[in-house]
Amino acid sequence: MRHPATRLLHVLLSVPVLIAMVITASPTARAQSQPSPAPLVIVIDPGHGGAVNPAQPDMPFDPGAIAPSNGLQEKDATLAVSKRVQALLEQDAVHVVLTRSDDRAMSIQQRTDTANSNQAAVFVSIHFNSYPDGGPGGSLVLYPKDTDITFANRMSDAMNTYLGPLGVADDGVQLRDNWWVSTQMPTVTVEPAFLSNAREASLIASPDFQQALAMSIRAGIETYDPQVLQRKAQITAWNNAHPERPVVPATVVATPAPHQPGSGWLSTVIRDVLLLALLAAVVRWPHIAWRTVRALYRLALMTVEHILIRRAAGRRRRRALAVRSTSLRAQALVRPHHIYDELY
Ligand SMILES: [Zn+2]
Repeated sequence: MRHPATRLLHVLLSVPVLIAMVITASPTARAQSQPSPAPLVIVIDPGHGGAVNPAQPDMPFDPGAIAPSNGLQEKDATLAVSKRVQALLEQDAVHVVLTRSDDRAMSIQQRTDTANSNQAAVFVSIHFNSYPDGGPGGSLVLYPKDTDITFANRMSDAMNTYLGPLGVADDGVQLRDNWWVSTQMPTVTVEPAFLSNAREASLIASPDFQQALAMSIRAGIETYDPQVLQRKAQITAWNNAHPERPVVPATVVATPAPHQPGSGWLSTVIRDVLLLALLAAVVRWPHIAWRTVRALYRLALMTVEHILIRRAAGRRRRRALAVRSTSLRAQALVRPHHIYDELY
C-alpha cells in the first residue's frame, strides 16, 4: 500500500501535466501561438570605407571621392546619411541592416552577400558623385536591371522633392548594368550630389541637408514598396494587442518571439503547482534531490568546458582565415580611386 504522501505527490504532479495537455490542444492556444508579424528587412549600403593605417600598410582602404573645396570624404558622408536613413526607417518598424556601420573597407561581393543573406526587401547603396572639374552638379539614381527602373524613378522623384528646394538639380535615372548585378531584390544606387562641386560639397557636409536626403531616401523606398507601411500597421496592431511581448524590429529578427502556451492566469497556476510539486518532492526525498543537483552541476561544468574549448578552436581557425582574406582584399581594394567612378 502506498504512503499517503506519495499519493498526494502523484496527484500534484499529474494535475499540471493534464492542464498543459488540454491547453496545448485548445484552439485558443493555437491562436495565441500564431507568430507575430516579422519586421521587414531593408539593407542600406554606405559606399566606400576604410582608413589608411601606417602600422598596417596592407590594410584595405577606400575613401571614395574627396571634395577639393572642403576635404569631405565620400566614405564619411555616405555613412552619416546611411545612419540617418536607418533611424528614420526604424521609426517605421523596419529592421535596417547596414553593410558597414563604421569606417571599414568592404568588397562589392561582401555588400551583396549582406543584402542577399538578410533577404532584404530592397537594397539601397548610397554614394556621392564627383567629376574632374567643379561644374557638374545634381542628383542621379543608378539602377542595375531593367526591372529596377520603377524603383529608380520613385527614388529620383523623392530625391527631387526634398533636394530640389535646396538647389540640387534633377539628373534623372540611368542604367548601370555592371554593378549590383547579383543582388536578389530591387536595387538602386543614389548619387544625390557632387563632392567635386563646391556648393554641393558644402551642402553635403551640413546636417540639415543630410537629414533631408535621408528623408528623401525613406520616401523613395516607401512610395516604391507599399509593404513597408503595411507591415508597420500590422506591427502597430500586434503591439497594441500584445503589450506584454511587442515586436521590436532589431531583436525580433535575430530571435523569434518565444512560444508561450496558455493564457496569463492559467500559466501562473501551472507554474505555481509545478513549483509546489517540486518543493514537496525535495522535502520527501532530500537525498535524491541533493544527488540530482550535484549531477546537474557536474553536467553544467562539462558543458561550459566543452563550449570554451570549441570557442578557442574557432578563434584559431578564424584568425588563420582573416590573415588570408585580408591579403586578398588588399589586392582587390588598394587601388587609386577613379574619379567619377560611379559612371565609368
Ligand atoms: Zn562612390
